[in-house]
Amino acid sequence: MTYKNFTVETDADGIALVTWNMPDKSMNVFTLEVMDEIEKIVDQTVADEAVKGVVFTSGKSTFSGGADLTMIKGMFSMIDEEKARDPDNAIKKLFDAAGRMSWLWRKIETNGKPWVAAINGTCMGGAFELSLSCHGRVASNAKSVKMALPEVKVGIFPGAGGTQRVSRLAGTQDALQMMTTGQSLTASRAKAMNLVHQVVEPDQLIPAAKQMIKDGLKPVAPWDEKGFKVPGGGIWTPAAAQLWPAASAILRRETAGNYPAALAILKSVYEGLQVPFETGLRIEQRYFTEIVQTTEAFSMIRSLFVSMQELGKGARRPAGVPKSEFNKVGVVGAGFMGASIAYVTAAAGIPVVLIDRDIEAATKGKTHSESLVAGAVGKGKMSREEGEKLLSLITPSADYASLSDADLVVEAVFEDRDVKKAVIEAVEAVLPEGSIFASNTSTLPITGLAKNSKRPAQFIGVHFFSPVEKMMLTEVILGKETGDKAIAVALDYVAAIRKTPIVVNDTRGFYVNRCVFRYINEAYDMLIEGVPAVMIENAAKMAGMPVGPLSLNDEVAVDLSQKIMKASIADLGEAAVVPGHMTLINKMVDELDRRGRKNGKGFYEYPAKPAKKFLWPGLKDLFAQKKADDVDVKVIQQRLLVTIALEAARTMEEGIVTDPREADVGSILGFGFAPYTGGTLSYIDGIGVRTFVELCEKLAAAYGDHFKPTPLLKEMAEKGETFYGRFNPYAESAKAA
Ligand code: NAD
Repeated sequence: MTYKNFTVETDADGIALVTWNMPDKSMNVFTLEVMDEIEKIVDQTVADEAVKGVVFTSGKSTFSGGADLTMIKGMFSMIDEEKARDPDNAIKKLFDAAGRMSWLWRKIETNGKPWVAAINGTCMGGAFELSLSCHGRVASNAKSVKMALPEVKVGIFPGAGGTQRVSRLAGTQDALQMMTTGQSLTASRAKAMNLVHQVVEPDQLIPAAKQMIKDGLKPVAPWDEKGFKVPGGGIWTPAAAQLWPAASAILRRETAGNYPAALAILKSVYEGLQVPFETGLRIEQRYFTEIVQTTEAFSMIRSLFVSMQELGKGARRPAGVPKSEFNKVGVVGAGFMGASIAYVTAAAGIPVVLIDRDIEAATKGKTHSESLVAGAVGKGKMSREEGEKLLSLITPSADYASLSDADLVVEAVFEDRDVKKAVIEAVEAVLPEGSIFASNTSTLPITGLAKNSKRPAQFIGVHFFSPVEKMMLTEVILGKETGDKAIAVALDYVAAIRKTPIVVNDTRGFYVNRCVFRYINEAYDMLIEGVPAVMIENAAKMAGMPVGPLSLNDEVAVDLSQKIMKASIADLGEAAVVPGHMTLINKMVDELDRRGRKNGKGFYEYPAKPAKKFLWPGLKDLFAQKKADDVDVKVIQQRLLVTIALEAARTMEEGIVTDPREADVGSILGFGFAPYTGGTLSYIDGIGVRTFVELCEKLAAAYGDHFKPTPLLKEMAEKGETFYGRFNPYAESAKAA
């Protein structure tokens, strides 16, 4: 029998080698067709008496990335369609669809012949669950081998037996930690957790897997053997009595109850370990059916999986511009940002010229890369040769002539119009005609800067976030005259350095910083009202934000806020800044010298390590304090999320952001906007535009006009619209189809 996605070759020992190699994909993923073929392979190998056992592996460098997003998307549209068509049976159908993979893997486990998974590379989600249903697992010790059940990161959980098998193989605590965080395991860690049987050299993978079968591997899972005992003894033991209350408390601390899928993992394991294995599978299937219907699962999958991939693959790239090759990138300004931009560019294998005012400053910029490389080599994350190669790609220089063959120049000099003007002119004097100039400015409008350029069509903003090495987002800012080639080159560059781009039209603060400043401003309002600072910070975390607004302000630098506020007043007039905010920040900076983390004092105190930072007690004396009982924590949470989401809605209304996917992904990657919501606009769509508008009106009445819903929101509420409906990112492709 032949298959589209698999080859099956049986050797002289009767071992069938099943190799998964999808012809039209760079990575193997589960589709309905793949699952149908696996089912046929099980039937074929069971029926064929010559086959004694099966080794299942991949023909690609990775094993598999798990489920295909079109399959998951299909499940969501199925729920909607079925609920409309046949509401009584819709959930039953969903339950059956959710169980398809789980029971197919169970069929492998109980087919009667031994199966061994030969894990040659990244093995994620459903693919790792398939491996767990095999009777033996051998993994290669190559660095690229990673195993994980990462579903929780996109709002769902391992629903193809993962919760039941991992908790019956590994210790409960390890199992819960692995699944509730979605962490990746190296082959040796997986072996230590009892999740794989052997770890071997890459070239020994298939022979070792076959040998397991030749050595008489029993085609029976441990839990199907009589007398099976859960590691550690199961739920009714003194150890479990200690573990479970702590586990749910830790989960609550880490997620504030915002992630239903993480809780479903705890429930599936807790309940599943008390019943026979197949009943456990059914419990998992029941919770999975419940979780896929949550707004959190829908929104997280859409933003963190589908949209992120689409934006990463250039969803906003203009068609018709040939793909860019980067033979040389110039970075001008070897300071805090420029030094890091040079590093990430060289890390992508692109030669970089790093320019500053003199060779000493440029060379100092390169030392940043040298210390990052030394750190990575020291931790074994990079080989010495890889480190040397990376550093050899960075050439410090003070001579603009070395940009005469650059494809792209990224400018990261002082945030000063005159300095930038001089640099633009100096660069353009040598840069080839067709090359692109990108500014990393964080506050100066691109259209204004482009006035200094001889070729504004080739002028664009590429706005990085600090720390550049860690932050996955880059804002690509379009000036009024920016042309398609500049957009394409900027997006190709962002893709080359493996970051996710959002394309934003020109405005003060662009998208991310506009939202961030709303968050911080709301905290200023709260401080002025006398809300205890600790309640502001904790409520922010309870709302799902990774850092409180005061802590964030300290990171950004309080004096930078002051600079930006003063610039806004200078450019737009007094009304541009709330007077109380200016008074507070002037006091913090000018009177108290509390500039943030960088000078060791801001809204927080920063004692010498290992002591942890703590809120500056003096904050209490700045404003008359409300009693904690008089503050509604729920309202504090709402104010923080709503003020940001409302700003995101304004940017859509103004045409600054044009695609809801970018607003959502930008908010999560840019400043960690409560990921369980799927991002700023998914948050509004998720609670419903009408409900959001009512909430804004209520908050506006109590806390000020900045909460007033915008005309667009009111219109959408009236018409019952959503952002993803009104600004449908797929409208064009749907028309074309
Ligand atoms: P920085 O002061 O650390 O570095 C600026 C560098 O530019 C210095 O090394 C300086 O010597 C060099 N420079 C100044 N004039 C020059 C000239 N004429 N020719 C060559 N080099 C010159 O500043 P930074 O924090 O790296 O910021 C740089 C840019 O990045 C600014 O536009 C800033 O707004 C933007 N930005 C900063 C951040 C951040 O978090 N710091 C984030 C995003 C964007």
